Amino acid sequence: MAILITGGAGYIGTHAMVEFLNAGREVICVDNFSNSKPCALERVKQITGKDFKSYEVDLLDYDALEKVFVENKIESCIHFAGLKAVGESCEKPLLYYHNNLTGTFNLCALLQKYGAKKIVFSSSATVYGKPASVPITEDFPLSTTNPYGETKLMIERILKDLHAADNEWSVSILRYFNPIGAHKSGLIGEDPKGIPNNLLPYVAQVATGKRPYLSIFGDDYNTHDGTGVRDYIHVVDLAKAHLKAIERAEKVSGVEYFNVGTGVGYSVLDIVKAYEAATGAKVPYKIVARRPGDIDECYANPDKAYRVLGWRAENNIEDMCRDSYRWQSNNPDGYGE
Ligand code: NAD
Ligand code: UDP
Repeated sequence: MAILITGGAGYIGTHAMVEFLNAGREVICVDNFSNSKPCALERVKQITGKDFKSYEVDLLDYDALEKVFVENKIESCIHFAGLKAVGESCEKPLLYYHNNLTGTFNLCALLQKYGAKKIVFSSSATVYGKPASVPITEDFPLSTTNPYGETKLMIERILKDLHAADNEWSVSILRYFNPIGAHKSGLIGEDPKGIPNNLLPYVAQVATGKRPYLSIFGDDYNTHDGTGVRDYIHVVDLAKAHLKAIERAEKVSGVEYFNVGTGVGYSVLDIVKAYEAATGAKVPYKIVARRPGDIDECYANPDKAYRVLGWRAENNIEDMCRDSYRWQSNNPDGYGE
């Protein structure tokens, strides 16, 4: 019996594949490589010394996806596949709604049809909108500010309705805070296309000399040093949370929501200092205008994940910076062409 990993070739998916394979689980990857490359999967095989099946399939193609279910005994699913760039989602909302929602409809219909009613879904702290306070617990009010976030919230609601209609479903909704870092092997990591939107890939490219300086988006936020505060979590810790979540989904049905963060907030300036201290590299920066839509502070209360799943983050900020730097130094052009 296999676990279907949608989006398994992506940043978080590859790290999760490694953890699942190392735990002796059978996995099958489905990815259309719209934001990833097949060689990332070869690296997963290299790290684990294990083989697995993978399909180049778009979740929008119901028939092609059904073939994966016909050819394999799938018992559950980790659903990473989706488009994730906030700015792009504002420019191309239909693309985001179609890809993320229709892809999930097809997937869920097939999970239902083939009796594999267990799903772990990649949601995001973005569903908390502009939180009234921090740390954030899972019962905080939900709202979104862009089409990307809206797709996450809509999918959460769709999965909840699926369980309401058929209580055999096990749904585990993981709300990720800010995943960063890379596997310790330096073989897999984040490979953004073009200019990185997110802080850590940008810092990594500055630290390794690929870009001259970091632009810090605003230093007048209501935080300890004026720069934005986030809850950065090591991608390997995040990957491990999926293993815990699927183990629980195998035992109990229901719908559960978990914050996946460390519970600690770091500002942009804290990150610059931590990166320099962990790596010895310099990260020159300039303070520029705020980025529209950014919030002051966002960090998790991750207690529920510990209480219910027995999961908590093990890597600290130094580990995250060092592992990010190793990946970026070894792979200055990511996975290349
Ligand atoms: P990623 O882009 O690296 O991985 C997503 C993968 O899904 C890619 O390999 C892409 O090719 C694939 N994909 C997209 N649409 C597809 C489709 N229609 N059919 C088949 N494959 C498709 O992103 P990631 O950072 O690994 O994120 C994984 C998930 O976690 C996403 O759903 C994302 O929204 C969510 N998430 C990510 C972050 C983050 O900061 N990275 C934060 C919160 C939530
Ligand atoms: N940020 C920045 N410069 C960059 C990218 C991000 O100053 O080039 C800041 C951003 O304003 C926020 C923090 O870094 O305060 C994290 O941004 P990211 O886009 O990584 O995550 P998100 O805002 O989605 O939580």
